Amino acid sequence: MEILFLGTCACDYSPKLKDQFKDKFDFDARRSSSALINENIVIDCGDHFQDEARIAGVDLSKVTDILITHLHGDHFRVKNVEYIASKAKRGVRLWVREDARLDEIEGVEIMRMKDGVTYDMGGNVSVTGLKANHDEIAFPQHLVLEQDGKKLLYALDGAWFLHSTYYWLKNKNLDLAVLDATCGDYVGDYRMGEHNSIPMIRLMLPSLKKWGTVNDDTKIYLSHLAPSLHKPHAETAAIVEKDGLKVAYDGLKVSI
Ligand SMILES: [Zn+2]
Ligand SMILES: [Zn+2]
Repeated sequence: MEILFLGTCACDYSPKLKDQFKDKFDFDARRSSSALINENIVIDCGDHFQDEARIAGVDLSKVTDILITHLHGDHFRVKNVEYIASKAKRGVRLWVREDARLDEIEGVEIMRMKDGVTYDMGGNVSVTGLKANHDEIAFPQHLVLEQDGKKLLYALDGAWFLHSTYYWLKNKNLDLAVLDATCGDYVGDYRMGEHNSIPMIRLMLPSLKKWGTVNDDTKIYLSHLAPSLHKPHAETAAIVEKDGLKVAYDGLKVSI
C-alpha cells in the first residue's frame, strides 16, 4: 500500500500559497490535509485539493473512492467531490460516517460507514471508520485501511483516542500511523479536546506500544500541523526524530 500526502496543514494557511508557492509544494507552506492511497483512493478533499492534485500530477481519472474523515472545510468541499467525479472514468463512491448530514451529490454514490465495521472496497482493500475525539457536528471518524495484511491508520482530526477506538486498535500492530499534531512542542494549548500537541503524542506512544497498536517497526507520521503553532518543518522533524516520529509534508510518498 502506498500513501501520497497531498496536504498536511491545519487551517492556518500560509499567505505565500497565493503567489510564491502557487505551483509547488513547500515544507513550510502546507496545504489542507489530504492524501492519495494507491492512485485511486482520495482521503479528504478540502480547501486546496484541486491545487494539490495539479501540483502532484495526480491522474484523477483513476479515482474510484473518496474517504472523508469529517466535514470541516479543510477536509471536505462539495465542489471538490464534484470536480473529482467529473474527471473520474468510473463512478465515484464517497465514504462518510453513517450519520453525516450530507445532501446527494450528482454522479456520486454515498457510502455510510457504521462505527467499527470493516467494508470491502475492492482491490483487496478494506476500510474501517472509528470514532474520533473532534467536533461532533462535523461527524468525525478515524480511518483504518488494510491491504494484503498491511494496516494504515489515518487519524486526522482528533485528540487522544476514544475508548471504543482504542480497544479496536488493540494488538493491530499498525504498519503506518498518521497522527494529528496540530499543536507544536509545548504544553497548555486549549485545543486538548479536539487536537493533539507533540507532548500529548509523547505521552500516548508508550501506551500505544504496550497495547500492541504500534510497535518498533511502525512508521508514525505527524500531520495536520498548524504552522503558527509549530517551529519550521526541519526543526520539528529533528526534535521528534528523538521520539521515533516523523513529520509528514506535502508531496511525501510512503510505501508499506
Ligand atoms: Zn482539520
Ligand atoms: Zn477538523
